Amino acid sequence: MTLEFEIINRYFKKNTNVPLGIGDDAALINKNKREFWAISQDTLNNDTHFSSNTPPVELGWKALAVNVSDIYAMGGKPNYALLSISLNQHNEKWLKGFSQGLHACAKKYGVEIIGGDTTRGATSISITIIGSVFKKNVLKRDAAKVEDDIWVTGKIGLAAIGLDCVKKKIAMKDGLKKTFIEYLNKPQPSNIYSLQAKKLFHSAIDISDGLIADLSHILKSSGVSAEIFSNQLPVHPWTKKNEAYHYALYGGDDYQLILTAAQKNRSQIELLAKQEKIKLTCIGKITNGKKLKVFDTHGIPLKNLNKGFLHFDK
Ligand code: ADP
Ligand code: MG
Repeated sequence: MTLEFEIINRYFKKNTNVPLGIGDDAALINKNKREFWAISQDTLNNDTHFSSNTPPVELGWKALAVNVSDIYAMGGKPNYALLSISLNQHNEKWLKGFSQGLHACAKKYGVEIIGGDTTRGATSISITIIGSVFKKNVLKRDAAKVEDDIWVTGKIGLAAIGLDCVKKKIAMKDGLKKTFIEYLNKPQPSNIYSLQAKKLFHSAIDISDGLIADLSHILKSSGVSAEIFSNQLPVHPWTKKNEAYHYALYGGDDYQLILTAAQKNRSQIELLAKQEKIKLTCIGKITNGKKLKVFDTHGIPLKNLNKGFLHFDK
């Protein structure tokens, strides 16, 4: 267990009376007979989640988008958000850009900003999101079944390439660099609400810390294992050309979804995804094995799997 989760479990996890408390992408509380409220919170800190030269308009977008992603990961629809923001100075230009990005994201995903808190301090943005989910459509991390297909939405690993571009760890043409940085700063969560209304999936999580790290949460909670095939991963052509699959396996900040579904739903999922214009790719399957296996593009199992982004571990 990583230190982040050790801290949560040791100091903050207590028994509650809610239908679902700590441990999934959002908590669930009763709304009415048929629906839950899904509630989640995500924070972006200066120097940890963004740098001082991240454009404020993109930061405003991202702060909300990362929260929308957690509601989609529960099979829900986002409704309301509260914004808590700490700023070390009053910078009008920055605030204008930030609020523009925030409101643009709110409009796209149908979220109303209904409250928050504004304080002075090191720049930090924390959003609490409230969504609704039909009880019969809830997607939890603990419900993956052996033989399920594993799907991911969108493309993965692009944000992590963007981060390495920002950090000047890799060099490439300006146009390409811009594309990757946009994936990093303006994540576009995929709305699978209409697919889940047909109850096509068993379990889900969003990718914030990397495919392997986040898939591992599903596997652990569900008591299963998995096989992932690198040549099936939805990556950018640059990743293929440079054989840089580690970005897709371990890179964080994608805010796409990992979903598992019975194989019998495969054609219906593909059809509906096409109709709804959602990119969904099958990348492997759930197994009853002991260890997660990741096959490289030559079909050889990778030896040492990394854990992805860790908040406290060195
Ligand atoms: P995600 O990546 O989906 O945002 P996290 O990995 O941050 O989820 O958190 C895992 C679980 O632990 C979530 O259910 C979250 O609500 C809970 N959690 C995280 N930090 C705290 C905390 N300080 N107190 C209580 N619960 C927490
Ligand atoms: Mg999440």
